[in-house]
Amino acid sequence: MKRIGLVGGMSWQSSALYYELINEFVGERLGGFHSADCVMVSVDFAEIERMQHSGDWDAAAAILAREAARLEGAGAELIVLCTNTMHKVASAIEAAVTVPFLHLADVTATAVIEAGIDVVGLLGTRFTMQEDFYRERMQSHGLTVVVPNPEDMATVNRIIYEELVGGIVLESSRASYLAVIADLHSRGARGVILGCTEIELLISQSDTALPVFPTTRLHALAAVEASLA
Ligand code: GLU
Repeated sequence: MKRIGLVGGMSWQSSALYYELINEFVGERLGGFHSADCVMVSVDFAEIERMQHSGDWDAAAAILAREAARLEGAGAELIVLCTNTMHKVASAIEAAVTVPFLHLADVTATAVIEAGIDVVGLLGTRFTMQEDFYRERMQSHGLTVVVPNPEDMATVNRIIYEELVGGIVLESSRASYLAVIADLHSRGARGVILGCTEIELLISQSDTALPVFPTTRLHALAAVEASLA
C-alpha cells in the first residue's frame, strides 16, 4: 500500500470526508482491520480564503506547494489536493514534489466519460465555475461543460462559503441546488459534477435522477486505487 498524502483543510469539513472515505475504501478492498496509510496536512482555511478573494493566488500556491513537499518528506507517495478550487494552482504543487499528483479534474473527467456522458454540468465555487483552469481541463478530455447562469452561480457560490465550509446543511439550500441542477439539465447537461468537495454534504445521488459526480468520493476512490496498484 502506497502512502497517500492529503493537502487538506479547505475546508476541514470535506477533508474529514476524504479521511473517512479513503479508510472505508481500503477496508472494502482489503478487509479485516485494514485502513489507509496516509498523512494529511490541514491548512488554516481563513488564510487561503483571504488569498483567494484578494486574488493572491501566488501566495496560496506557495503555501500549498510547501505543504505538499512536507507531505513527501513525511513519506507520501502520491499527493491529493482536497479541494477543486485550489487546483487553480495545481502546477505549482506538482512542481514542488517528485511523487505523482492526482489531479481532481482528470479523475472526475474519467468518471464522466466512463458513464457515457459528454455534456456535463459543473457546480463549484465561482472560481471553479467561471475561470478556465477547471473547465479547460475537462474540455481537454473531450467533455462539453455547462455552467449555471450568473444568478445561479452566485447562489451556488454563496451557499458554499456561507454554509457548507462551516458544516451548515440547510434544506432550503438543497432545494436551491436542485433547481440549479434542473436548469443545467434543461440546457443539455446529462450529468452534473459536484465540483466542490463540500457539495456532497448537501447533495447525493438520491436527490436527483440526473447522474451526479461527487468529486470528494471519486478523488478518494482514485487515491485508494493508486495506493493499492
Ligand atoms: N472545497 C471547495 C472546493 O472543492 C471550496 C473551498 C475552497 O475554496 O478551497 O472547491
